[in-house]
Amino acid sequence: MTDEGDALIGADGLRSRVRAALFGESPPIYRNFTTFRGLTDYIPNGYRPSYIREYLGAGKGFGFMMLGKSRMYWYAAVKAPQKESDTTMVSKKELEMIFMNWFPSIPELIDATDESNILKTNLYDRVPVQAWSQQNITLLGDAAHPMLPTLGQGACMALEDALVISKCLQEQTNPTLAFQQYELQRFARTKYIVEQSLQSGKMGELENRYAVALRNAFIKLMRTAISNSFKSIHTYRV
Ligand SMILES: Cc1cc2nc3c(=O)[nH]c(=O)nc-3n(C[C@H](O)[C@H](O)[C@H](O)COP(=O)(O)OP(=O)(O)OC[C@H]3O[C@@H](n4cnc5c(N)ncnc54)[C@H](O)[C@@H]3O)c2cc1C
Repeated sequence: MTDEGDALIGADGLRSRVRAALFGESPPIYRNFTTFRGLTDYIPNGYRPSYIREYLGAGKGFGFMMLGKSRMYWYAAVKAPQKESDTTMVSKKELEMIFMNWFPSIPELIDATDESNILKTNLYDRVPVQAWSQQNITLLGDAAHPMLPTLGQGACMALEDALVISKCLQEQTNPTLAFQQYELQRFARTKYIVEQSLQSGKMGELENRYAVALRNAFIKLMRTAISNSFKSIHTYRV
């Protein structure tokens, strides 16, 4: 199918065809982690609504939070240097084994979730490089700057991009100039967050018990600074 228009915004995700057409085929970088995401009605005992609970172990982690008023969303990340296919089926048994001796809410949540409600995803990003635009064509969201989900910012960045791009197009009717403005406004912030997400992923990758103990001590020591850095990401205004 073909179509015509004044401009094109490639918002087609991690393996963007628009990106490949602009800059050539280059696969995203696999970052040695696979993740599982689940949805269930089961709410663990003692869970405090509006809190995210996150547990970090040696080369793996688990978190959960409420979605809306009655559903629990949970996520698990597991180090996997030997990448399996992106479409491998989820084995709940395997997941139960991995988190068997963890805080009781975790195996309970896995047990309470239908296998069909668990999504497995390998994790990728790209090294941030300008430019995303060529004349009247640009990229947005994961097509432009895919990142690890360790700070939970990928979709947030796509939404911010969309807001900035719409403002630029309102102020500047020439799409080529509007896209230059858009890129200028978005590059530094998204680069920073892609890089911070990768750093954060490295913390989760540690497996050596001394390195893990050191990391845990560091997180305890730095908890105010860590919380402030999240606040500064969340309070950004375009
Ligand atoms: C495990 C995990 C947890 C995450 N957690 C969070 C989180 O807590 N918070 C957060 O902000 N982000 C999170 N993210 C990141 C978030 O999912 C992505 O950053 C976000 O979905 C990117 O949005 P996008 O619109 O750029 O791309 P996508 O959501 O990938 O959307 C691209 C769309 O383009 C379509 N498409 C692709 N190719 C074509 C084509 N050729 N023709 C037509 N359509 C096409 C696709 O079907 C898709 O609908 C997480 C990601 C993962 C993997």
